[in-house]
Amino acid sequence: PAEAVLEALQHADVARLLPLPTGESDKYRRGVVGIAAGSARYPGAAVLAVSGALRGGAGAVRYVGPAGDAVIARFPETLVSDAGPAKAGRVQAWVVGPGAGDDAAAVAEVLEADVPVLLDADGLRLADREAVRRRTSPTLMTPHAGEAAALLGVRREEVEAARLAAVRELAAVYRATVLLKGSTTLVADFAGGPVRVNATGTPWLATAGSGDVLSGLAGSLLAAGLRAPDAGSVAAYLHGLAGRFAAQGAPTGAHDVASHIPRAWRDVR
Ligand code: AMP
Ligand code: MG
Repeated sequence: PAEAVLEALQHADVARLLPLPTGESDKYRRGVVGIAAGSARYPGAAVLAVSGALRGGAGAVRYVGPAGDAVIARFPETLVSDAGPAKAGRVQAWVVGPGAGDDAAAVAEVLEADVPVLLDADGLRLADREAVRRRTSPTLMTPHAGEAAALLGVRREEVEAARLAAVRELAAVYRATVLLKGSTTLVADFAGGPVRVNATGTPWLATAGSGDVLSGLAGSLLAAGLRAPDAGSVAAYLHGLAGRFAAQGAPTGAHDVASHIPRAWRDVR
């Protein structure tokens, strides 16, 4: 039989993939996720990415960037570092880009790290394509249609009219796993195979900061040891459910979506 083009994770698949602690776990073995995000102009993006990461299953969240005071004020458990990513201490996965402004040096440093890297928002714009292509550790890219169009050099409408082709092409061109956001989320890997589709979300997720929460969540799952296609699709699944629980048919904010991630875990387990 011909290979399926699309596949959807079910509750049971997600439950099997969730990184649960055991008696042998300590915070380092559960994984440390590094977040390089936020700026003086957009400190909230850092706070929201950290909020997603804290609910993703890693044992610790390390933040580097100019929004450390805002992050600590909201989440005192965050490890905040003044140094750039290369000197921040060991992390098992990096998230770079939400609200980050024009810090190209931080993006370049993260891309040199021999651990999984998630690129979102400004990180997508600032990443050098060749630097991404030559990475030997996994790269997970999380564009919405507008960001995907900019990376492909086409108009947003062209991506929206052919989302499956766009997500596969981006994965091939960057030798990465690509999660294309929208009313449904598609996850493609450069190695090929079926594209994963997620439809757990709700249009109430179309709200400022929503994607920043998803980035942190997916980065945390990478740090906990999930493969990039699994980290991306499990994050999209939980984020969509959390959005439904937060909204329940009424407007909600990104911080509230993050607060409902634990409820999504409990629902899946
Ligand atoms: P961003 O554009 O980076 O803030 O990310 C927006 C988030 O909300 C992504 O996870 C999208 O998949 C999700 N989202 C946006 N619009 C919709 C929609 N109409 N239905 C479901 N999810 C959506
Ligand atoms: Mg975004």
